[in-house]
Amino acid sequence: MASTVRGVVAPEKAAPVSIEQVVVPDPGPGEAVVRVQACGVCHTDLHYREGAINDDFPFLLGHEAAGRVESVGDGVENVAPGDYVVLAWRAPCGDCRSCRRGRPWYCFASRNAIQPMTLADGTPLAPALGIGAFAELTLVAAGQAVKVDPAARPEAAGLIGCGVMAGFGAAVNTGGVHRGDTVAVIGCGGVGDAAIAGAALAGARQVIGIDVDSRKLEWARRFGATHTVDASRQDPVEAVRLLCGGTGADVVVEAVGSPETYRQAFFARDLAGTLVQVGVPDPTMGRGGALKSSWYGDCLPTRDFPMLIDLYLSGQLDLDGFVSETIGLDDVEGALARMTRGEVLRSVVVL
Ligand SMILES: [Zn+2]
Ligand SMILES: [Zn+2]
Repeated sequence: MASTVRGVVAPEKAAPVSIEQVVVPDPGPGEAVVRVQACGVCHTDLHYREGAINDDFPFLLGHEAAGRVESVGDGVENVAPGDYVVLAWRAPCGDCRSCRRGRPWYCFASRNAIQPMTLADGTPLAPALGIGAFAELTLVAAGQAVKVDPAARPEAAGLIGCGVMAGFGAAVNTGGVHRGDTVAVIGCGGVGDAAIAGAALAGARQVIGIDVDSRKLEWARRFGATHTVDASRQDPVEAVRLLCGGTGADVVVEAVGSPETYRQAFFARDLAGTLVQVGVPDPTMGRGGALKSSWYGDCLPTRDFPMLIDLYLSGQLDLDGFVSETIGLDDVEGALARMTRGEVLRSVVVL
């Protein structure tokens, strides 16, 4: 029987979010219903609410979540009721042209639930990134539910599902940061700090965090930046060159998404260095070396989520450091405002 639960809905463009009754159907073939235990508030939720992603209102927000599998539909083999999972917004199909090329992290036909979750009156909800986890229960494709070690608390584990994976993967998967590399990261919010943590764990000898906000530079140092540059006081390209002995960094991760920071990242590279862009690209620039757009950290959730949870549990990855505050479902609107003001790394809804 379908369940009715509370969920955070963005009703229309730029309107405040509200808590609504959400009808979650029983899982059909290949689907799973997950009882959400915690879900981080991400910039993408704000972009949905503002209508910047698309116009498929109303949206069920939330997509950075951990929880327990409640029930599964026919043919589901990867998870069973009771399993502790992190939800992924990509579940490779295994059969599209990218999967067949051996690049499932770009899968062009990623799986989501087939059935819609709806409002009480039957209006279908568009779940953010195919997840919709600011709700007590959510319906996903079973492949989106990735089992991880249940010793990791949900507030921390859920963050793997989006921002931390995107940043960590941008440095390690997309940028291919290796031991001894020099790395610069422009933008030291949640995604940038995860890139810094990833670069540090990969053995980079220098990790330079760049931002215009001194509070964020402090966060960057906490996650492993060996140097920080306040771009409101110093030209970041010059600063990176100086710190790297006059050249530039081997890998520059651009985690802001503005044309100006993209330009800075482009020129802060050493010759043939790699630029990894995590925000919105400006396609007008091209030069030798590698310009890479990182899509969800080029991660394979089934490979990378359990690995990051294990790094967390062994004390090598400070997921707790990303949790600025825990809040209730009714404080998501306030959390979106605090995020806009740059006051928090992550607000995490605890259900
Ligand atoms: Zn595919
Ligand atoms: Zn996100």
